[in-house]
Amino acid sequence: MIIFGTRVRHKVLGDGKFFCPRCQAQRSYLHKRASRYFTLYFIPIIPMGTLGEFIECQACGGTFEMSVLNQRGPAQPRPQAVNVAQMINTVPDRLKSGVPVEFLMRDLTAAGVDRDVAQSLINPHLAAGRKTCASCGLTYAAGVTTCASCKQPLSA
Ligand SMILES: [Zn+2]
Ligand SMILES: [Zn+2]
Repeated sequence: MIIFGTRVRHKVLGDGKFFCPRCQAQRSYLHKRASRYFTLYFIPIIPMGTLGEFIECQACGGTFEMSVLNQRGPAQPRPQAVNVAQMINTVPDRLKSGVPVEFLMRDLTAAGVDRDVAQSLINPHLAAGRKTCASCGLTYAAGVTTCASCKQPLSA
């Protein structure tokens, strides 16, 4: 009597670390390919086709589609949209603490504030005067004594 049939065999194609969605942790995985074989006396003889490739977690045994490797970690809370209101509120303090006008402008415009609006937010706080660093040209509020960029003392 000849005993034949088919059997699914798994071939390991690679391994590595991935973020297992089931463990919710960094785990080792095996990248496997499942193929169906024609067997004779339970010995796989003829490959009959690939059933698919998958990723197997070595901790929980869970199997996942290849795309699981693109998952970099637990669902991250989206980076908070820059809080423009808060940025605007801190303009006077930042000017006072020695942040150059140019940096504030950059931060405000990067957060989506129009240049004109940013300027008009900063200007009132420069009413007492402004200083310009002689060596790098950055602009500061009157009370600032040292350039944040080149550490040079600022003269009035
Ligand atoms: Zn796992
Ligand atoms: Zn400077």
